[in-house]
Amino acid sequence: MVEQSQIDALRDAPVTAGGLIINGEVCPSASGEVMEVISPLNGQVLTTIAAGTTQDATRAVTSARAAFDDGRWRNQPPAARKKVMLKWADLIEANALELAVLGVRDNGTEIGMALKAEPGSAAATIRYYAEAIDKIYGEIAPTAPGFLGLVHKEPVGVVAAIVPWNFPLMIGAWKMGPALAAGNSVILKPSETASLSLLRMCALGLEAGIPAGVLNVVTGDGAVVGATLAQSMDVDVMVFTGSGATGRKLLEASARSNMKRCYLELGGKSANVVFADAPNLQEAATVSAAGIFRNSGQVCVAGSRLLVEASVHDAFVEALAAAAAKMTVGDPLSLATQSGAINNAVQLDQNLQFVETAQAEGGTLYQGGARTLADTGGYYMEPTIITDVRETDTLAQKEVFGPVLAVTAFEDEAEAVKLANSTDYGLAGGVWTSDLGRAHRMIRALHTGVVHVNTYGGPDVTVPMGGVKQSGNGHDKSLHALDKYLDLKTAWIKL
Ligand code: NAD
Repeated sequence: MVEQSQIDALRDAPVTAGGLIINGEVCPSASGEVMEVISPLNGQVLTTIAAGTTQDATRAVTSARAAFDDGRWRNQPPAARKKVMLKWADLIEANALELAVLGVRDNGTEIGMALKAEPGSAAATIRYYAEAIDKIYGEIAPTAPGFLGLVHKEPVGVVAAIVPWNFPLMIGAWKMGPALAAGNSVILKPSETASLSLLRMCALGLEAGIPAGVLNVVTGDGAVVGATLAQSMDVDVMVFTGSGATGRKLLEASARSNMKRCYLELGGKSANVVFADAPNLQEAATVSAAGIFRNSGQVCVAGSRLLVEASVHDAFVEALAAAAAKMTVGDPLSLATQSGAINNAVQLDQNLQFVETAQAEGGTLYQGGARTLADTGGYYMEPTIITDVRETDTLAQKEVFGPVLAVTAFEDEAEAVKLANSTDYGLAGGVWTSDLGRAHRMIRALHTGVVHVNTYGGPDVTVPMGGVKQSGNGHDKSLHALDKYLDLKTAWIKL
């Protein structure tokens, strides 16, 4: 159990400038240029990170390729690789508080959530895939006598992983864990606004024994570093979590270069559907408030559309608003905070713009809607609820990625399904009902990768996570994620 005093002791700790990690060495960018890291807690410069160049990204690819080709990782006995990754997970856990506080100062997530979802979940993920390493079997095909058909599972090669700012360690581990467990080399590109804790976590990976060149990190501008990786002829797999706009560019770059595999985890506009027969409407309201407002709504699966049965609409919205009002917004390094900072100034402005647009289109501002705690210099926003949002309104269709909830009433199950499926996204959804038959009908009817029933959020590494429609393709987490990083090779042998 972490005490507030332990967090406070690290609150103002000096932060060293971040370098690149290429071929096992920490180094500056080829140009020597750096980017300022602005803390969303107070708008002040926290430190700098290396502004990686095209040359740096290319050097990282060359080092990853050399490491893959000479087999320094993939040809180690599975038990040896497992030992290294288990040690890495132990080191992440041993440094969990330091990693969490550093990450919060960089990205603004409330520390209570960061402690659990960042180092805690990253360590669990690395450990899960470490344990899988010596349990990946090939196959013997049921061929006719006289022939032997073997199916080998082989690492694909060089993996480039580009990740966003909302949960850098957790999402980073979702990519690095299975990619490294399968025997590949990795180049990680963190977000410009959440690189620090990932750099530290990857340095721990090298300390645990991941060989030089097998795990590289190149920080910097996405349009430079990320684009170079995407266009590289020597990257075999591109895995990405982030916005749809960037995802499209990666698909294009893949098609224009070597047609590398490209797996995308994109945004969402997830519908949280509350029926009047929910087992406990008060609990549904409290959980639904957390489902949109934790981490200031900067959660890809956030239940950002509340669809609520008309007969309980007013009472439910009132209960949800009361639960939201009880959530403390503010200092992300306080254990009492339930909704921390918005990651950056541009995102805060965009959130506020969404609120204006929603009202201009006929939505009713029920609660919140404004920037708060501006005197801190940081980026904070009130949990915001907009009612009377229609199916085609901007707020029903576009992802905010902030603490803004769109509320729409429905009359019956058929209308709920129609509304829920009426966006380009298909990441997650929620259903609140006491009717078992309806729960199963809704699970089938919602066109999403994840459906929560009588809860919202929280699944662990054992289940796949991914979207359908324009929320992406492929899955992070679970043993299924390994498929992205493995090739099947058939050996056909005449006996
Ligand atoms: P973003 O697309 O702006 O950036 C994500 C990453 O892509 C960053 O590392 C960035 O540097 C890099 N990048 C930017 N431009 C690039 C380019 N031209 N080529 C290559 N790389 C480039 O997204 P963001 O603002 O960091 O994150 C928010 C988005 O991520 C939201 O849409 C959110 O829903 C989504 N997200 C999805 C999931 C999921 O699992 N589906 C999880 C978390 C976040």
